[in-house]
Amino acid sequence: MPAIKFRGVDFIAFDTLLNDDERLVRDTARKFIEDNLVPIIEECNRAGRFPRELVKPMADLGFFGASLHGYGCAGMSNVEYGLVTQELERGDSGVRSFVSVQSALVMYPIYTFGSDEQKNTWLPAMQRGEKLGCFGLTEPDFGSNPGGMRTRAKKVGKEYVLNGEKMWITSGTIADVAVIWAKVEDEGDKVRGFLVETDRPGFKAEDIHGKWSLRASVTSGLSLQDVHIPESNLLPGSGGLKSPLMCLNQARYGISWGAIGAAMACYDCALQYSLLRKQFRNQPIASHQLVQEKLTWMINEITKAQLLVLQVGRLKDAGKVQHQHISMAKRNNVWMALECARLSRDILGANGVADDYPIMRHLMNLESVKTYEGTHDIHTLIIGASVTGIDAF
Ligand SMILES: Cc1cc2nc3c(=O)[nH]c(=O)nc-3n(C[C@H](O)[C@H](O)[C@H](O)COP(=O)(O)OP(=O)(O)OC[C@H]3O[C@@H](n4cnc5c(N)ncnc54)[C@H](O)[C@@H]3O)c2cc1C
Repeated sequence: MPAIKFRGVDFIAFDTLLNDDERLVRDTARKFIEDNLVPIIEECNRAGRFPRELVKPMADLGFFGASLHGYGCAGMSNVEYGLVTQELERGDSGVRSFVSVQSALVMYPIYTFGSDEQKNTWLPAMQRGEKLGCFGLTEPDFGSNPGGMRTRAKKVGKEYVLNGEKMWITSGTIADVAVIWAKVEDEGDKVRGFLVETDRPGFKAEDIHGKWSLRASVTSGLSLQDVHIPESNLLPGSGGLKSPLMCLNQARYGISWGAIGAAMACYDCALQYSLLRKQFRNQPIASHQLVQEKLTWMINEITKAQLLVLQVGRLKDAGKVQHQHISMAKRNNVWMALECARLSRDILGANGVADDYPIMRHLMNLESVKTYEGTHDIHTLIIGASVTGIDAF
């Protein structure tokens, strides 16, 4: 079977809904992924290796903090940023996760809640990829319900002392700085964000091994034992659980686009394969009705997902987006992508489980994407609460 090369997916002239700048950003990211990530990603996935060599080239293309303004950031619109994450995840969800964490979960909170000194110290260096960050919210006993977190910060003189454990933290062992969410003892256990340099005594990060998903992304556990940080490391604008949730909203928005990229990769591969592979009377499997039904389902759902997230992106650019809109886009698009990965895997038959093709990797990756940044079911409850006014958590 000849190698299958991505051709793009556009059933209803979706491109005509994009302006020239948006198409240019998308095409630039697409070419970068095709030339730099696609050739190495299966090896990275097998080895469980994050392709760190791509950090600098991604920084040069403005991928980090892409929708922020100033500090060397690209100042992209939200739709442009979304198109970048779509292309990144067409390559691999793990690499897109790295960019989402760096941009939406570390640079965004520094930009939004940070002091001028914090912004000047971290944002330009993070934009250039010289400094990497991670976001520590989840704990071993608190995932969907981060409000239960046990990590504590105590004010002692002009310092804070942090104690706690964080789990499932993307980029934990490669980060220079961790945004740690902790309850502040002297402020009635209010949740606040802290910048913790990862070389501080008492801070430890260890990788989680044995993941069958996001293998090209680093995932770690963090331990903080009497970690002293100056009071100036508190993110002064942060306050309450709303602050980390604002960051998650940023990241979820990027994921909503990213999932379309993974779905496109699977669909396009399955379509091309089905035209080449022959079974029964020397006919391509694409000629069988049941295969066509699967392809139709996929292109139908991809197209709806594109329209949904474009509208959410336009609302975001107009400053009118609400968190439940982003929940709908994340919930729908990740579910849709996972279904596309499963259907595509099926169309490839036995070849679908081999890493000569990208499908099984996307399928395994998307299982994590369905869980992190608010599980599918948590987004169901967010939308349910929004339409009924009744909180069912
Ligand atoms: C690869 C990877 C990378 C990650 N990166 C990060 C990171 O960088 N930073 C970070 O802070 N976290 C990160 N996470 C953690 C992620 O955000 C959590 O896994 C997620 O919030 C779910 O929490 P949990 O795994 O503890 O599941 P749980 O909260 O235990 O949920 C288990 C199941 O119970 C369901 N459930 C829970 N509560 C309810 C309810 N009220 N009603 C109905 N169903 C419910 C859930 O939907 C789910 O199906 C990462 C996770 C993964 C897998």
